[in-house]
Amino acid sequence: MIKEILVKTALSHSKLKGFEYALNPYHGCEHACVYCYAPSVIHWDKGKWGDLVEVKINLPRILSKELRIKKKGVVGLGTVTDPYQPAERKYEVTRRCLELLLSHDFPVCIQTKSSLVLRDIDLLKKFSNLEVGITLTSHDDSLREKLEPGAASVQERFQTLSELSKNGIKTWVFLGPVMPYLTDVEALIEEISIVKPWYVIVDKLRLRDGVNDRVMEFINSYYPYLTEKYEMIISGEEHFYIEIFKNVNKKCEEIELRCELNRI
Ligand code: SF4
Repeated sequence: MIKEILVKTALSHSKLKGFEYALNPYHGCEHACVYCYAPSVIHWDKGKWGDLVEVKINLPRILSKELRIKKKGVVGLGTVTDPYQPAERKYEVTRRCLELLLSHDFPVCIQTKSSLVLRDIDLLKKFSNLEVGITLTSHDDSLREKLEPGAASVQERFQTLSELSKNGIKTWVFLGPVMPYLTDVEALIEEISIVKPWYVIVDKLRLRDGVNDRVMEFINSYYPYLTEKYEMIISGEEHFYIEIFKNVNKKCEEIELRCELNRI
């Protein structure tokens, strides 16, 4: 379900590394990823994650006012929810915000799982400082379909990365979360290296209340043979990522791919 809402502010101060501001045109996300921890970040209490999306329809108007008075700084576009989720096709809130950010020459960093970002290539090309990050969690689309049911296919995401690069836009990959015993990280890194992103960030599964139940439900439904292993990871008994990060580092060094590991 889509609901139109009005907001009072647009840019919020960001504590994320490299960003001064965060801008999120949507509240809720149709991509409905199993591991999404946005509901706990925004204290979502409006039903099942993925079923409702609130569109901040007056966001461009508010942003326009704020850009006149705010100090210039990097804007993370889609730090909480995906700015190119399906509703954006109709509402174009992200596009209108980009037009404004461009006219004020603000640096922008976008993160998405959607090929819809290609619609705005005309704008993206005009920025003096802009990056687009595409998230990948697996090279296997049957896993992706279960894990990120509303998001673009793996193939579409790789095509998006290629198309952006071809157009001179700086790209990076957010490889995460690495799903224990499911994501073939080394195979995925091999494939990523073919599209030559600027860098890759590798992230763990962020376990917390609200996420754990959804992850366990997913594992019990599709991969019941992993139930015990995931229970151990959730209880903190399994040091799964130490080995994974070591292998990722080695692989990236071998293929000369710049990579950053989100160990914390
Ligand atoms: S795309 Fe991002 S915000 Fe949307 S459901 Fe997936 S993880 Fe959450």
